[in-house]
Amino acid sequence: MTPRARGNPIVAIDGPVGAGKSTVARAVAQRLRFRYVDTGAMYRSVAWAALQRGISLSDERAVTALAQSLQIDFVTDPEGQRILVDGVDVTDLIRTPQVSDGASVVSVYPGVREAMVAVQRRLGADGGVVMEGRDIGTVVFPDAEIKVFLDASLDERARRRFEELRARGAGADLESVRRAEEERDRRDRTRSHSPLRAASDAVVIDSTGIPADEVAAGIVQLVQRRLRA
Ligand code: C5P
Repeated sequence: MTPRARGNPIVAIDGPVGAGKSTVARAVAQRLRFRYVDTGAMYRSVAWAALQRGISLSDERAVTALAQSLQIDFVTDPEGQRILVDGVDVTDLIRTPQVSDGASVVSVYPGVREAMVAVQRRLGADGGVVMEGRDIGTVVFPDAEIKVFLDASLDERARRRFEELRARGAGADLESVRRAEEERDRRDRTRSHSPLRAASDAVVIDSTGIPADEVAAGIVQLVQRRLRA
């Protein structure tokens, strides 16, 4: 990995589904004027493309070949960040419960992970980036200057995800959202390749009951302290 210029650190934010990572990571990136990379959107893109092309999610070889062939790009527009898969804007299409579930299935495959990690390392190579996911501090950038593991109680995580789906007009009930989150968490934590866990040098933050902007402000302070040290 190339050495990063001082002042351009990598901020890795990992944690389970619904811990508030996206909101927090986006806010931290905005305040620090760093680039924001949502790695979950990449696994979602692979699942979306497989579903779109009629590839069975249980066909590891076909899904892996697909992941290796896709061109995944992040572009910033005035509305925020968009994600393109082979030139198609999938930003909203990858947020359905079917794609959420599919992403947690395809992300178990080592070949899929290797393809995504290679892209993530390129995106973060120069630093000045906030990267959010499950394995950023443990696998993608084990040398990240700042590592945060963001957690929250299962009840709160299910409630946040439920509100998010409702705000988007998707029909959902709290109990099935909770069950789906538990299942995704189980898959993420028990897979043999890059399971979800806090890096030994991560700062663990339990965000239960704490507003996202407060959590983000705490992380910004952490980054600024590290930069001064
Ligand atoms: O973060 P998000 O919920 O969008 O991620 C979708 C799925 O992608 C997760 O449930 C997880 O299985 C997978 N993922 C992963 N590694 C990452 C980011 C996401 O395995 N770095």
